Amino acid sequence: MKSRLWRRTVEQWEIVKLRIIYVIICVVLLVAGLIIRRRMVRKARRRRLLAEPMTPEWKAILDRNIPLYQRLPEELKRQLEGLVNVFLSEKRFEGCGGQEINDEVKVTIAGQACMLLLNRETKYFPRLYTIYVYPATYVARQLTSNGWIDGQTRMGESWRYGPVVLAWNSVTGGANNIHDGQNIVFHEFSHQLDQEDGAADGAPILESRGCYATWAKVLSAEYEKLQRKAKKGRKTVLHRYGATAPAEFFAVATEAFLEKPKQMKRKIPELYEELKNYYKLDPVEWA
Ligand SMILES: [Zn+2]
Repeated sequence: MKSRLWRRTVEQWEIVKLRIIYVIICVVLLVAGLIIRRRMVRKARRRRLLAEPMTPEWKAILDRNIPLYQRLPEELKRQLEGLVNVFLSEKRFEGCGGQEINDEVKVTIAGQACMLLLNRETKYFPRLYTIYVYPATYVARQLTSNGWIDGQTRMGESWRYGPVVLAWNSVTGGANNIHDGQNIVFHEFSHQLDQEDGAADGAPILESRGCYATWAKVLSAEYEKLQRKAKKGRKTVLHRYGATAPAEFFAVATEAFLEKPKQMKRKIPELYEELKNYYKLDPVEWA
């Protein structure tokens, strides 16, 4: 009698276990289905926005505020407009210190940021949700053991797991001068590309495993060269700020690649070639 009862309890327990497993499988399948559906909807929306012509008002802003856009070949212009459509539908802008957020601000920033995405498979800066914009250079607050204190004055910054912060006067200043190799939007958004794999180390996600060895060889050699030259106070194609860290080197090199391509190709051809392979662009052609 006792053993029959025991067997029944075991059988009931087995049924309960099977039901729990069944519920778990259903929940997993449901969640996976929802994720896949969400990705498919996003992919379709992005495809539609990429193909959608940009409004004349936004195009006028690109024309007026980004001289580099005017130099792009027609095919790249169309591509950039589609990328900006997607970017502006997904990212949030917030004004700080009294900065107004309007189409002028949004399109000018998006137009430059999306130049880094041209001709490439892209995830549209996946870790970035919000862009904070100050009217001018701002003082960054820093958390210390004594609490929050005022830190350095900044033109912009890019956080590893979050936002980009920009000073509007630096954004317009950087866009207007296309020959000085200094552009705060290129700089901060190249940090976003670098940080996409979770590490701010000057190595963004490259096309294949084989690319990393050449990338490391070329960029670390040029980084060390820049450090030596910066120490001696010598001027180079790259701004000396690039000598402060490998991540800064990649950001500064990106600025020079797009704004001083001829000089870079002439003076640092190996670096130019690496960036050309990564960005799938050859700015010398439209310089
Ligand atoms: Zn930086």
